[in-house]
Amino acid sequence: MTITEPTVDVTAPIEHTKLLIDGEFVDSLDGSTFDTINPSNGEVITQVALGSAADVDRAVAAARQAFDHGPWPRMKPSERAAALWRLGDLLLADAAEMGRIETLDQGKPYSLATAGDVPSAAGLFHYMSGFATKLEGSVIPISAPGEYHTYTRREALGVVGLIVPWNFPLVITSWKMAPALAAGNTVVLKPAEATPLSALRLGQLCLEAGIPPGVVNVVNGYGPTVGQRLAEHPLVDKVSFTGSTATGRRILDAAKGNLKRVTLELGGKSANIIFPDADIEAAIAGSSAGIFFNAGQACAAASRLYVHDDVYDEVVAGMAEKARQIKVGDGFDPQTEIGPVASLEHFERVSGYLDVGKNEGEVVTGGARIGEKGYFIEPTIFAGAAPDARIVKEEIFGPVVVANRFKDIEEVVAQANDTRYGLASGVWTKDIATAHRTAARLQAGTVWVNSYGVFDPSMPFGGMKESGWGREMGHDVMHDYTDVKTVCVRIDG
Ligand code: NDP
Repeated sequence: MTITEPTVDVTAPIEHTKLLIDGEFVDSLDGSTFDTINPSNGEVITQVALGSAADVDRAVAAARQAFDHGPWPRMKPSERAAALWRLGDLLLADAAEMGRIETLDQGKPYSLATAGDVPSAAGLFHYMSGFATKLEGSVIPISAPGEYHTYTRREALGVVGLIVPWNFPLVITSWKMAPALAAGNTVVLKPAEATPLSALRLGQLCLEAGIPPGVVNVVNGYGPTVGQRLAEHPLVDKVSFTGSTATGRRILDAAKGNLKRVTLELGGKSANIIFPDADIEAAIAGSSAGIFFNAGQACAAASRLYVHDDVYDEVVAGMAEKARQIKVGDGFDPQTEIGPVASLEHFERVSGYLDVGKNEGEVVTGGARIGEKGYFIEPTIFAGAAPDARIVKEEIFGPVVVANRFKDIEEVVAQANDTRYGLASGVWTKDIATAHRTAARLQAGTVWVNSYGVFDPSMPFGGMKESGWGREMGHDVMHDYTDVKTVCVRIDG
């Protein structure tokens, strides 16, 4: 692995490393900090304030005050829309620094962070700003005795806790924060401990955009303390979480005290199906990107590959060739296509699955770490694993795909649905009937046909089965950040 000269100053100091509470960057109450690590070399980037349950309490108090008495939920919808639009613009203008921070903290290629993640987050704020002025109710003709004017109002929920992971720190934060703010909620955000930096910078941009103090608060810290307190807090009205299914269950348990609303965007083990009539070249390219993008750290990663017998050898050989060509390296190397996995803990988890996979199937390509420094893993293809093998059943969340064969549509739909997850799926075929029939029968929140991993702020995204509750993005998300109030007015005297 050669690292060419970086084009950005990777050593420039990081501006925001504290907690953001009530519009101020502050130390944690007990003054503790933790190291945030660069996964490309295992070195400390900087120390970040380490929040505790008591810090969550004061952030929630600020968010509560901002919701109950502050201007945000009461301001003209067009003013709220303008602030969110400005935030999108500020993000675009900040792409170089925001991208640098995301690459340092998460490891992804700088080109991807600046030209992918940042514009994608900005696009969320731009798109969702429009909902601020379009949260309409309806007038309902009722049949009760008497005369009535009955209507519904769509109202903000209150204080929303956002608990996000480390694979797309900025993007997943914006999936949640943009609709929450558009509806007039206030938020307390807990970034993942592995990737706190972009959340803090986003907090600064929120203030610059004119979002009032207390509307957006950021408490860095550990899941079992900060995350747990946010999920259980009696003054928090909703929690929106992205992460593992196991932690999702813990969030549900914690949330039941005040029966707060819950959105869960959890794991996946997505089936990607290639029929024999597909454009094979496009299917190979799309399926490779579908699993290896972001080093496979994507909830929707195309981690189970199902290829028809007639084209199996050609597809698997083509994907193996692509996997061997992928440039894995430091995110600041302009040649890098995929970076390291995001933390030592996760590197060990994925490495454990490489060992499991070698016992459960055959290694087509990859299967090892790259280098001795940093958390780099070879793009890996396993084949020949049994349907109940761990590498077929469990989410690996790394650059690892398991290839399987099928003979007909019945068999492949049954195999694809034989999972507790239901997040996403891919179908590659030129036959329009096969495409629609398969899409209808797959148990997945999103089905991509002749494409994979296409996201847009207007497309709802979320899981069926144990992949979660609720949706991110699209019109549907606004239902998850608002409540309906019915007003029934007697008007016949
Ligand atoms: P987690 O689900 O544990 O972490 C996601 C977020 O939840 C982080 O901010 C984490 O905090 C927080 N958290 C952890 N425990 C609690 C808790 N008890 N209460 C409230 N919040 C909590 O995932 P991991 O990082 O441990 O990754 C494990 C696996 O999860 C991965 O291998 C992958 O399979 C899956 N995953 C799925 C993601 C997705 O996009 N659906 C994203 C990330 C992981 P902190 O990190 O600070 O401890």
